[in-house]
Amino acid sequence: MSQRISYTKPSITELEVSYATDAARNGWGERCYDYIVRFEKAFSGHLDVRHGLATSSCTGALHMGLSALGIGPGDEVILADTNWIATAAPIVHLGAKPVFVDILESTWCLDPALTEAAITPRTKAIIATHLYGNLCDMERLLTIGRERGIPIIEDAAEAIGSTYNGRRAGSLGTFGTFSFHGTKTLTTGEGGMFVTNDSELHEKVLGLSNHGRVRGQTKQFWPDMVGFKYKMSNIQAAIGCAQVERIDELIGRKREIFQFYADHLLGIHGISMNTSSTGGDSGCWMPNVVFASETGVTADLAREAFARQSIDARVFFWPLSHLPIFGGHAGQPLASDIASRSINLPTYHEMGTEQLLRVVNIVKKLCLGD
Ligand SMILES: *Cc1c(COP(=O)(O)O)cnc(C)c1O
Repeated sequence: MSQRISYTKPSITELEVSYATDAARNGWGERCYDYIVRFEKAFSGHLDVRHGLATSSCTGALHMGLSALGIGPGDEVILADTNWIATAAPIVHLGAKPVFVDILESTWCLDPALTEAAITPRTKAIIATHLYGNLCDMERLLTIGRERGIPIIEDAAEAIGSTYNGRRAGSLGTFGTFSFHGTKTLTTGEGGMFVTNDSELHEKVLGLSNHGRVRGQTKQFWPDMVGFKYKMSNIQAAIGCAQVERIDELIGRKREIFQFYADHLLGIHGISMNTSSTGGDSGCWMPNVVFASETGVTADLAREAFARQSIDARVFFWPLSHLPIFGGHAGQPLASDIASRSINLPTYHEMGTEQLLRVVNIVKKLCLGD
């Protein structure tokens, strides 16, 4: 049996280990926030945004950001039907309604025309998820947001390294959120970041993030509102500091792996892969192959073929509206169609050429037969 190939896994060097060890040994008492502050500065510096707040997850960052915008019962938030549950759950927790719209066939991201058509007087935010690192059409979405007075939020969990007209994903909207889960390009094990250029919004989220204790409150144990507890630990942040120092290398390898797949697969009839909107340059978090309908290759067939060779390939996200928890509808047409004939390809820093070729050969066989 050939060696197992994971879907993704982190790249951990002596640097991460030494920072985490230092945090575990010395990062207590008055030094208990040192790595957190340093990580927030380093990551927001990388993005060129004014404020970064380290969180326990991307989901937590979204929850606090949406809450700080005042989103609650009766409100609607528009997002793509193709999304991970993490993007929709905070909307539900706030008592608001997620409104799922279809994706573009090219980028697999939110369709701006359908987004505009889905706006009602109750729409309080639009979440642009940069799927698999592909860039949303931010120019059009930001224009819609400006014209209609609706905040555009970027879920950039999958878009570390992605840029749009020279600016980093996550830095363009009202706020952006990131995930440092173990499957993401930069990891702290679990973790996330809330980022914004809006100082007032940052201040609100800062208060919310600390059990509702606002900055400047001099009374001890005195919450000014009911907040959240979504903080990152200093030990996690220590790992994050090491990862940010290596961020160009981490992104660079993601791009190389994507390029390897593209070089070997894009010439084959019936295969397409990730693209971004004009002006977008992907950080290549997750390569995904879409098989043309006429190839007859389905997501299930592909996943089984990979599993037989001990390769952990993952399916494209199900349309959220197709899940019974969201009504179990047919799902938006393109979101359903593309999911039915797509497969994510494994990608991680230490992945070697031999492993990449094993993946390539399975895709080729699926498409061309033996
Ligand atoms: C991974 C991911 C999340 C969730 O991140 P957590 O840190 O696990 O909360 C949210 N949105 C998208 C698009 C993701 O890929």
